[in-house]
Amino acid sequence: MVRLIVTAVPGAGKSTILKKIVEKIPDIKIVNFGDIMLEEASKKFSIYDRDELRKKMNFKDYRRLQEDAAKTMARIEGDLIIDTHAVVKTVYGYYPGLPSKVVEILNPDAIVFLEFRPEDILARRMKDLSKDQVEDRRVREIEKIEDVEEHQKISLEMASAAANHVSCYLYVLRFLESQKYPYQHAEEASLKIIELIEKMKKGEERFKE
Ligand code: AMP
Ligand code: MG
Repeated sequence: MVRLIVTAVPGAGKSTILKKIVEKIPDIKIVNFGDIMLEEASKKFSIYDRDELRKKMNFKDYRRLQEDAAKTMARIEGDLIIDTHAVVKTVYGYYPGLPSKVVEILNPDAIVFLEFRPEDILARRMKDLSKDQVEDRRVREIEKIEDVEEHQKISLEMASAAANHVSCYLYVLRFLESQKYPYQHAEEASLKIIELIEKMKKGEERFKE
């Protein structure tokens, strides 16, 4: 049983990468942290939009919701990838996506941090923006290159802190060259993550409780 947390800033293309992983290893479960939080938030706080989570909820409720979501995911058995963010950007500053309590509950074997060129991320967000306006009207804030650079830098720092806290591996994947064909980075990232899972499963004794 291997449990990974995969992190990247919003719009990095994480969902595409995870989709490719399930295509290749259908038995793996993928769970999206934001989806689980939103499920709970819709029942308890009448919040139905994922971007409202970090914008409308008060701090205490948000923290409770985050921990409850972690508990729900911790109950899932089998090989699991948790799709989330190492930090969530708010008007008050960066909020940890994997604070001590949450990462303790999730108890991962490894945290994967995906880094891309900020210009690629901004281009993907623009693409999502036009698509989402049709699909679910999800609007991503328009950021500058420097904003994305800072967001990625702090995400890596927070992912490192989380890995340190629970003594798990931190696996960093960087894609800093421009793609030679569409979805090259997504394809390569999915293969690298599968390789990591397979390596961990081979040495499974070390990943047992
Ligand atoms: P996503 O669809 O992955 O961009 O996530 C949507 C929303 O879910 C984020 O804007 C956050 O409000 C929330 N979220 C996702 N992961 C976490 C986390 N680890 N901690 C707190 N909030 C999270
Ligand atoms: Mg996503």
